[in-house]
Amino acid sequence: MATVQELQASDVEILNPYEIVQSQIENAAAILGLKRDIVEILKKPKRVLCVSFPVKMDDGTVRVFEGFRSQHNDAIGPTKGGIRFHPDVTLDEVKALSMWMTFKCGVVSLPYGGGKGGVICDPHTLSKGEIERISRGFMEAIADIVGPDKDIPAPDVYTNPQIMGWMMDTFSRIKGSFNPGVITGKPLIVGGSKGRNEATARGCVFTIMEAIKDAGKSLQNATVAIQGFGNAGRIAADLLAAEGCKIVAVSDSTGGLYNPDGLELDTVKKLKDTTGILSYDSRYHLQRPEELLELDVDILIPAALENVITRKNAHKVKARIVAEAANGPTTPEADKILHQNGVLVIPDILANAGGVTVSYFEWVQNLMNYYWSEAEVNQKLCDVMVQSYWAVRSLAQEYKCDFRTAAYMISLKRLAEAMKARGWVNE
Ligand code: NAD
Repeated sequence: MATVQELQASDVEILNPYEIVQSQIENAAAILGLKRDIVEILKKPKRVLCVSFPVKMDDGTVRVFEGFRSQHNDAIGPTKGGIRFHPDVTLDEVKALSMWMTFKCGVVSLPYGGGKGGVICDPHTLSKGEIERISRGFMEAIADIVGPDKDIPAPDVYTNPQIMGWMMDTFSRIKGSFNPGVITGKPLIVGGSKGRNEATARGCVFTIMEAIKDAGKSLQNATVAIQGFGNAGRIAADLLAAEGCKIVAVSDSTGGLYNPDGLELDTVKKLKDTTGILSYDSRYHLQRPEELLELDVDILIPAALENVITRKNAHKVKARIVAEAANGPTTPEADKILHQNGVLVIPDILANAGGVTVSYFEWVQNLMNYYWSEAEVNQKLCDVMVQSYWAVRSLAQEYKCDFRTAAYMISLKRLAEAMKARGWVNE
């Protein structure tokens, strides 16, 4: 297998998220002059579990599903990160996502390392009962390695609070006691946190607000294009519209819409909820939904999946700010092109860290068994995101590097210190 350096030097663009995150680590570690042993520890997850489990389907047949849980690094605390249900989930993707979680927790100074899980399935083709049995089956399969002080899952692509509720219930039954702290993003009634559902988008919007302030501009009438219309993308659209932005384009797996004068968000949402597809007026249809990434807008928010901005389309990005609500939407080569073109990329490990931050608040509330108001949660989230934005911004200025490299440097420094303190590596 080619090394990351060989791949970077070759003509092949790195698209495997596991190799991408490894190259991002190498890049920031080189600037910091980190010792090789630290880099080698961080380039691989500490533990990966592959499971397969049988599920009774509605038609009476039994199907075997496969899933993964990756725990990257627990030097600073238990591992933490979402579980996605998607037909294309791979082990490498889950490993990469767990690594991004470690660095994300570091940027916002949470006492966690990174974890991630995935089940290969297509929820669009499954009934509610089948999804419940898959959720419970997966939790049963990984129960030995998760727990409030070991590894704490959360929602991700195509998973939601109800699924977290089922998983928490299964874990609590196995342990014979109520264990809300095993998972976050739960329904409020069983220990969820107020503000968790909106937290990823809200955190992303806080970083955009700081970036806009930093550039001496205003959000009033700023134009925004958003790829992905789920938890992160849809709520970001609402929050930015409330700040005076014009949401001109949105897309999801079914298609895309663009109106340079601004979309009527309420109409778009109503139609999406009733028909399941993003359409309300053929005049506004994007012929190719990927065109959304190249529109002449002020702010672009990728809020769907990985590797959507590559070296093939990076030079066509016209937005001045790209706020990565999604994990891993930009390849390393695309990153370089965007940086050279003066596009400010607010990297995933900062831009979408609001989700894990309020997940941390949820876990803290579960452990205390004492719950905060939504205003308190949002204020605490705002403090974390604003502080983290400026920490990244000043390091980027000091080292004359892009925000992603600066964000990695902040995390790497913390991890190196923790690993030294625990005696995993020499001083
Ligand atoms: P979600 O399942 O709620 O929404 C995903 C959206 O992406 C859906 O609207 C789907 O239709 C759309 N999508 C899928 N394929 C697409 C394509 N090819 N083109 C355009 N849109 C497409 O998931 P989510 O929780 O909003 O997660 C979105 C991204 O945000 C993921 O990268 C996830 O890892 C990241 N993220 C989510 C959270 C969270 O708390 N939910 C936290 C941090 C990061």
